[in-house]
Amino acid sequence: MSNFIPNKHNFMNERVLDYLPGSIERKELEAELARIKATVIDIPIIVGGKELRTGNKGYCIIPHNHKKVIGEYHKAGKNEVEMAITEALKAKAKWERLDWHSRANIFLKAAELASGPWRARLNAATMLAQSKTYRQAEIDSACELVDFLRYNATCLHQIYSEQPISTNTVINRLEYRPLEGFIFAVSPFNFTAIGSNLVGAPAIVGNTVLWKPASNAVYSSYLVYQLFKEAGLPDGVINFLPGNPKDIGDVVMVNENLAGIHFTGSTKVFQDMWTTIGNNIGNYRTFPRIVGETGGKNYVIAHPSADIEALSLGLLEGAFEYQGQKCSAASRAYIAHSIWSEVKENLLKKVENVKVGDVDDFTNFMGAVIDKKSFDSIKSYIEYAKNSPEAEILFGGRCDDSVGYFVEPTIILTSNPHFKTMEEEIFGPVLTIFIYEDDEFLDILRLCDNTSKYGLTGSIFAKDRYAISVAERELVNSAGNFYINVRPTGAVVGQQPFGGARQSGTNDKAGSKLNLMRWISPRAIKESLL
Ligand code: NAD
Repeated sequence: MSNFIPNKHNFMNERVLDYLPGSIERKELEAELARIKATVIDIPIIVGGKELRTGNKGYCIIPHNHKKVIGEYHKAGKNEVEMAITEALKAKAKWERLDWHSRANIFLKAAELASGPWRARLNAATMLAQSKTYRQAEIDSACELVDFLRYNATCLHQIYSEQPISTNTVINRLEYRPLEGFIFAVSPFNFTAIGSNLVGAPAIVGNTVLWKPASNAVYSSYLVYQLFKEAGLPDGVINFLPGNPKDIGDVVMVNENLAGIHFTGSTKVFQDMWTTIGNNIGNYRTFPRIVGETGGKNYVIAHPSADIEALSLGLLEGAFEYQGQKCSAASRAYIAHSIWSEVKENLLKKVENVKVGDVDDFTNFMGAVIDKKSFDSIKSYIEYAKNSPEAEILFGGRCDDSVGYFVEPTIILTSNPHFKTMEEEIFGPVLTIFIYEDDEFLDILRLCDNTSKYGLTGSIFAKDRYAISVAERELVNSAGNFYINVRPTGAVVGQQPFGGARQSGTNDKAGSKLNLMRWISPRAIKESLL
């Protein structure tokens, strides 16, 4: 029985812990790091709550120590995918009828566990599997993950409360149905929290989900699955399908019951998914919802009035935190000529102090990049710059994969605003800078707007309010998340709903009401009292 209207959950962002030497959180985290490294876990496929093992295995390695294996996972094939579709559809009948506050409470309980007893486990897994420093793991697999789970519950209350007008003789209501069919959630390697939201958002509104985690984040994704299970998520609501993306995608994407895809990853993969759906559009029972957050080529523009310290810090953190592997990472900068020498001095002083290495050492600012493929790709961009007459390596440029996939923070100065590294997503610790003449500010805004196919994030640094205002206007479509006097990364759930347009995605703003609405197909019900 649900004869009550629960009070709205009072959302507050999860506090970021400090991990000072000797603190309880530090000890717990160090113990978890040691525990994870001491074992190799076996990760099954999970369908309808049942663990399946195909024996066709993939390996979870530590990117900063790539000889070290911490997990082996079983890859799903056609049979397991088909079973998962059956189980998801079966589970949906009960799940969508469950009182919505019971659904929400499962995710609120998961948030409570992640905030407390599971925090160290989730962070340690993310540090080791994705090579995040303790701080980068804390803001991802603890804080953002908890925030997504809690904020979605808050948003759900708001959505369900929004009802149409009734009269004395006509009672109207909107019934917020989940979609008919199942959702395919496909997550990237770079944020454990994103995976949790790609599955959690459709599920909290009553959908059931097939989850394909990124192959190099299977370890931490499996932990998120276990967290949901511990919080009481019924079998079959989320089905965990690690494996070869094509083996899984090729079966799922053409199934007539595909109701939506919830994707975060690269633009090309998303385009291919969209093409597959387009080619099969006559075969689905309903038009699949296509939600995807994809690549970026995020910019920083510095006006002559910019605060040098704030700008240098913004460039450093924006470009190099998590080795530049945030979709929002700053990777191209346009700096006014009159302030360049001061900015250069300040930025170089800062970057010289950046320590790169094993994330077990809490003084390191950067770990390794995710895998060999990524390492090779980043290295090739750096080599390209080294060999070009249009570019100069101002800092860094060394790459070493003998122990882990380490790339130095690298700053390129170019004389060509259309230089390759000013235009293409590199997804590594590489920042390219172009210097413009002070009186060409308006031109540079327009050039910035037209340079890249993406539209994810960007920052303007200026003290001059007119300059800020012009930048806001000229760059209106260049970024879904626009920042003033601060780096273009670090969006916080509930504060800066995240997502971009153009080739950066469908801009459905993860961690907001807008995103949840995509997993809902409302039914309007009119009842006459006459
Ligand atoms: P990726 O595109 O390589 O992989 C993403 C996911 O798609 C993985 O799970 C992968 O296995 C899967 N996949 C690949 N081919 C597939 C296919 N044919 N069918 C089904 N699934 C398939 O991306 P990645 O390397 O994991 O992540 C980095 C990319 O993600 C960058 O481009 C980054 O900008 C983007 N990203 C965007 C956001 C955002 O919010 N805009 C956030 C995080 C990451």
